[in-house]
Amino acid sequence: MRPTVTEPCCICRKDFDFGFGRYDGRYIASWELFICHVCDGRFSGGIPVIRAKELLKQLGVAEVEPEINKKGHISIPSSNS
Ligand SMILES: [Zn+2]
Repeated sequence: MRPTVTEPCCICRKDFDFGFGRYDGRYIASWELFICHVCDGRFSGGIPVIRAKELLKQLGVAEVEPEINKKGHISIPSSNS
């Protein structure tokens, strides 16, 4: 059996593979959180705040001020930010 490393997605809360050559998501350094590719794509235009209660809680713990876009949704930082 191959070794696996998983990380929890900060939006859907599902664990995804992250390591040993398989990366089904990415690490958002400025949030100190992981996001899966599915949510990253689905919410590329921003995460509706109503769906992000848990995320906002986590960002609060990390003392991160999320960026809110024109639609009033939470912008997901790119990997470079
Ligand atoms: Zn997800």
